[in-house]
Amino acid sequence: THFGFETVPESEKQQRVAGVFSSVAESYDKMNDLMSLGIHRLWKDYFISSLNPGATNPPGQPQRVLDVAGGTGDIAFRMLEHAHIHNGNTNVQVTISDINPDMLAVGRQRSLELPATYQSAISFLEANAEDLPSSVENNSLDLYTVSFGIRNFTNIRAALKEAHRVLKPGGVFACLEFSKVDKYPLFNTVYKQWSFGAIPLIGQLVAGDRDSYQYLVESIERFPSQEEFRDMIKDAGFVVAGKGYEDLTGGVAAIHKGMKP
Ligand code: SAM
Repeated sequence: THFGFETVPESEKQQRVAGVFSSVAESYDKMNDLMSLGIHRLWKDYFISSLNPGATNPPGQPQRVLDVAGGTGDIAFRMLEHAHIHNGNTNVQVTISDINPDMLAVGRQRSLELPATYQSAISFLEANAEDLPSSVENNSLDLYTVSFGIRNFTNIRAALKEAHRVLKPGGVFACLEFSKVDKYPLFNTVYKQWSFGAIPLIGQLVAGDRDSYQYLVESIERFPSQEEFRDMIKDAGFVVAGKGYEDLTGGVAAIHKGMKP
């Protein structure tokens, strides 16, 4: 499979189953664990194994990955680990890009604890996803990832256009983002109470910053549904397989993928 992008029928697929961030940069990783009860780690692991970075035919071929809104490096580090350990591929280069220098600084600091071979495969780029610099060339990337970032973008369509510009034909756009649990009304009620009640409170108690976490919850609420977002991805010129997304934990999060034809 190509970054888990499979043109398999839906039924078969179902069987396998800006300012704010400066103030949360230091507490961000701890807060992620608290707010999601640690589940974001499972989602991220699943996201990355579904993309299977470093799997090439023949093995060991170079891959260029851009992790947009990469913040503190979580996704990028995991992708490299997967490429090295799972696929024995040390030719994967990952650029972590983020609009916020404070988030990038935390990522840079964390990267210093990684093995040297990983460090040499990572670069950092301060950039707005809606208007990537021309140094990220047209048709240059194999994989574009964005994890828990796109709902913060002011102009999601502009960012999708940029993703389409920088990917090679055959390259894959992959997004992990909070989504809607509308399919399960009872669970949705519990989830809404957790997010609107507990998360701002935890933000206040742990990070001393209620407003930022209130904003995070509201940004989840405002983000389009799975189907609406899938259609935006198609509008940007990507092709999607099956229904175009996969729900995680009943839709608390969802993975969307599109391939540039
Ligand atoms: N990808 C990481 C993860 O999964 O843990 C970090 C996600 S963090 C919730 C969202 C990130 O999006 C922040 O680091 C923020 O600075 C970044 N961001 C917000 N708007 C952006 C934009 N227009 N362009 C690039 N990054 C942006």
